[in-house]
Amino acid sequence: MKRQLNPGPYRAVLFDIDNTLYRDDRYAQWQIDVLIRRFADHRGMAEPEALRLVAETRSRLTANAGRRPSLGNTMVALGVPISTSVDWRRELITPHRFLQRDETLRAPMERLAAHVRLAVLTNNPEDVGRASLDALGFSDLIPTVVGLDTTWASKPDWAPFQAALDAVGAPVEATVMVGDRWDVDLAPIVERGGSGILVESHEDLREAITMLLEA
Ligand SMILES: [Mg+2]
Repeated sequence: MKRQLNPGPYRAVLFDIDNTLYRDDRYAQWQIDVLIRRFADHRGMAEPEALRLVAETRSRLTANAGRRPSLGNTMVALGVPISTSVDWRRELITPHRFLQRDETLRAPMERLAAHVRLAVLTNNPEDVGRASLDALGFSDLIPTVVGLDTTWASKPDWAPFQAALDAVGAPVEATVMVGDRWDVDLAPIVERGGSGILVESHEDLREAITMLLEA
């Protein structure tokens, strides 16, 4: 578990949702697949061609910026505005079909919610993020969902992170971001003096929450 932590106590913990608050590589990949299929329809091109175009664009952006962009920002470079990505995601992504209540994490999340302010930051629209929390059984514990339509910018842009910090009312130095992609989820917070924990498995997430409860 890669991490960069300031000394505690912390005032806020921000979570990414997909492949962070749950781990399901098939569902995460399915979300990408349906969006690229929708992009292929939109452009009137075959799916393999669309896949290749997205991959090439992502590689070029990675080389230019020195970090891997989100799918949303890759789509922007391909002429699909964030507002269209929001519409497509709302139309296509259905968390209740894939996610279920996580009883093993419910008690630790309750304890964490009693200690610090919690928020999630997702590159899905707010209502898709909220539906994911509902399905996982954490919705009542996490009052703030910052989504793609909160600031119309996609992580790792700073705007959604700032919106989350404003909502929880904590300075970045006293905030921990937990996510599964260093470049997209964690680098913006860590580079500004906050803390980051990279989770690569459900076990990592359990350990991260335990560690935060002891901080
Ligand atoms: Mg993620």
